[in-house]
Amino acid sequence: MAPDCIFCRILKGEIPAQKVYEDARCFAILDINPVSWGHVLILPKEHHETWTDLPADLAADLAKAAQKVAQAAKKAAGAEGYNLLMNNHRCSGQAIFHAHFHVIPRKTNDGIKFNWATKPYDPGQLDKAADAIRAGLK
Ligand code: AMP
Ligand code: ZN
Repeated sequence: MAPDCIFCRILKGEIPAQKVYEDARCFAILDINPVSWGHVLILPKEHHETWTDLPADLAADLAKAAQKVAQAAKKAAGAEGYNLLMNNHRCSGQAIFHAHFHVIPRKTNDGIKFNWATKPYDPGQLDKAADAIRAGLK
């Protein structure tokens, strides 16, 4: 529990929210400023800032909860698909520092755009990036 965390305060009942799912370790609420109708946030009850701060067993439980909620949100929204994403750290757009997945129901031509401009690696950087990540996993 972090006293200044909006999501911890929602869990304590200090701030209202539309809770749509709860289990022993996780819960899900409607995002108050949705990207699309039925945009849900899935959170652990314990306060951890990012995905990599979560104990592995809690990350697994959160992933299971996200799978259930994504299925239900997609159906409820009459959507064809959804984005499942998590912002980690301020530089990525994280605004609330209590790890959470977003499920954003999607339809063809719904006009939603994530600024996801891709470009090829500069020469040598693809191998370099792969080597660096593999080294970090040893
Ligand atoms: P992020 O940028 O990934 O940290 O996302 C935070 C999300 O929380 C945003 O999409 C906000 O719209 C949402 N949000 C902020 N305050 C509340 C609240 N009181 N209840 C529900 N969602 C909230
Ligand atoms: Zn919190």
